[in-house]
Amino acid sequence: MSRLTLADCFDPAGERFGIPTYPWRYAPEDLATRRQLRIRGLRPGGQDIAAQILRPRRRREPLTAYLYRVDLARPVRPMTPARWAALAKANAARRRCPECGRDAGYVIPPTLGMCVTCAYPEEQRAA
Ligand SMILES: [Zn+2]
Repeated sequence: MSRLTLADCFDPAGERFGIPTYPWRYAPEDLATRRQLRIRGLRPGGQDIAAQILRPRRRREPLTAYLYRVDLARPVRPMTPARWAALAKANAARRRCPECGRDAGYVIPPTLGMCVTCAYPEEQRAA
């Protein structure tokens, strides 16, 4: 994959790369990356990757971005009260210390596995 030029990346039939491939900035209008879909309030919606774009880089592997068909994209699901509630519950669980069982007021750091007060009782007492 070294020495890949922009022209090498033009493979709309996927003969070289296995899936339709376009050089950076030369993708067809009806295809978009996940981020581009998001800007338009859309999501891939379970469809398979339709194509990829490649951006050659000097002495490194090319940057790859996957493309989805805009006509198959679905609108981003709007937040409902039930979804907000589920999100709040999940966040609360991430703030709860498994050691003392209290809401730490922040997400428990995975490296500690407990709230700072439980992890460093000596320092808390000194302060
Ligand atoms: Zn704790």
